[in-house]
Amino acid sequence: MKRDNVVERKALEWLKQRGVTVDDIAELVHFLQGPYHSDLKLSICKENVERVLKKREVQNAILTGIQIDVLAEKNALEEPLANMVRRDEGLYGIDEIIALSIVNIYGSIGFTNYGYIDKQKPGILKDLNDKSNGQCHTFLDDIVGAIAAAASSRLAHSFAHEDEDFDDD
Ligand SMILES: [Mg+2]
Repeated sequence: MKRDNVVERKALEWLKQRGVTVDDIAELVHFLQGPYHSDLKLSICKENVERVLKKREVQNAILTGIQIDVLAEKNALEEPLANMVRRDEGLYGIDEIIALSIVNIYGSIGFTNYGYIDKQKPGILKDLNDKSNGQCHTFLDDIVGAIAAAASSRLAHSFAHEDEDFDDD
């Protein structure tokens, strides 16, 4: 199997293992874009999420972030990093930096969407932020928010260029 496919397959597999489905992220896109497009279908949101997940830089961010979260859960990180990641310390900030590598893929509205959804924490983001179950999603919550933000941005651009046959890759 080609290396690219291995990365893509693993990234999707790990997302699922960590409790995040494509539908969960599509719902976040619907939350962000629903107010701007009447009768926005969830299937359109999902299509945009799938396109974002095809990007190699997004897959890399997923693999890196989830790996660090999992190592933190297993107490396999060393101090002082271990504590900062486990507690999702506000001043750590590297989780957000990794997420930012995803946010602007489809232009700067992704950035606005990311800031907004990070504050509101709807749907799956609320679950990922629930620290009561011993799981650590310090990186994953930002990555999921970023994927939703990028997909929203892609969706907004595709609606804006509907008659021009919008197509990125
Ligand atoms: Mg975080």
